[in-house]
Amino acid sequence: MKKIKICAKVNNSYFVVVSNSIKTSLYSNITMSNYSRIGVITDENVKQHWKSLINREIKPNFTITLEPGEKHKNIKTLQFLWSALVKERCDKSTLLLIMGGGVIGDMAALAASTYLRGIDFIHIPTTIISQVDSSMGGKTAINFSGGKNIIGLFSQPKLVIINSQFLSTLPERDFISGFAEIIKHGLIADKDYYHFCTLKHPLEFTKKEIAEIITGSCRIKTEILNKDLLQKNERKLVLFGHTIGQALESVSLESSTPLLHGEAIAIGMVAETFLSVKKYNLPHKNLTELEKKLVNCGLPTRTKLSGKQVEKKLILDKKIINGKIPWTLLKKIGNGVFNVFLQKKQIQNAIQYICS
Ligand code: NAD
Repeated sequence: MKKIKICAKVNNSYFVVVSNSIKTSLYSNITMSNYSRIGVITDENVKQHWKSLINREIKPNFTITLEPGEKHKNIKTLQFLWSALVKERCDKSTLLLIMGGGVIGDMAALAASTYLRGIDFIHIPTTIISQVDSSMGGKTAINFSGGKNIIGLFSQPKLVIINSQFLSTLPERDFISGFAEIIKHGLIADKDYYHFCTLKHPLEFTKKEIAEIITGSCRIKTEILNKDLLQKNERKLVLFGHTIGQALESVSLESSTPLLHGEAIAIGMVAETFLSVKKYNLPHKNLTELEKKLVNCGLPTRTKLSGKQVEKKLILDKKIINGKIPWTLLKKIGNGVFNVFLQKKQIQNAIQYICS
């Protein structure tokens, strides 16, 4: 069992455990006798594949199952969740195990954190994106009024249990989409890791290599979180590709062909690497190489969505201060920089670059 501690400068402190046994991880890291009931929150797809493991290893008192997908990451599902927690008579001694991808993770953690002003929860992420990124750091959210993740709060789990065997049932498109966040980690913090995780198509890595990549990303993310859990400074690094990426994702969600989160972030990283070339003289060959690597991974680098609509969505960016977006860009490959301010024309040029 590998353990990485998230111990930020606030009172919260918890472990990210990489392990093949949920039960062992739970009992060796949590005082289970503190809890009178255990509930699982998951989605239909995860339940379909992992029902027997849930019953064998966790034996929950109740399970709440949500419809899968980004389009359900909204106030309606949050209300459904709150009602289900009331119906199950959950109290302060209930422990919630949140089992699923980033959608279920963000939304169920928000429900747990607001119900009775907060009850304890544990993340058991089951997708690449949730294992390498969304389960660590305590961001909870739903989409609202056309904006991605604009309602939410910081609330830390008691524990994160990462078990890579869940990835065996993940659809290929979701598996590949998850590599966008992995590549992002390399781009902002570790050049060698960037090259390693783009050596092959995601589906060609062995199980052992995937496990190494997941631990590698967890290491990068937790190092950043340990400097700045509440995203005042360094944590903004993980938003590389996400300013234009999330605007793109929001526009695409209103279309008949929505992009997956990682796909939108891949295109966003191209746009923000383009901006890095213009702002920091990052060699143009780094941009060309990134695009080639993303294509080799099966990720998109361009979109047919309207650039004007993408630009409009930037108004809903969560980082905006005094009407301006603090961007995260790259000074070098493996070296991100945050709080960069840009001119409107520079941003429009970057959007035009990807909307072709
Ligand atoms: P997701 O939760 O929608 O999962 C993708 C799909 O895989 C879903 O259909 C789901 O039902 C299915 N699935 C999940 N696990 C499975 C398994 N083991 N086997 C078979 N199917 C499985 O999406 P995601 O890609 O995990 O996460 C994207 C979300 O994460 C976005 O909403 C994004 O905003 C959020 N996110 C949050 C943070 C954060 O810091 N909180 C960071 C990155 C992304």
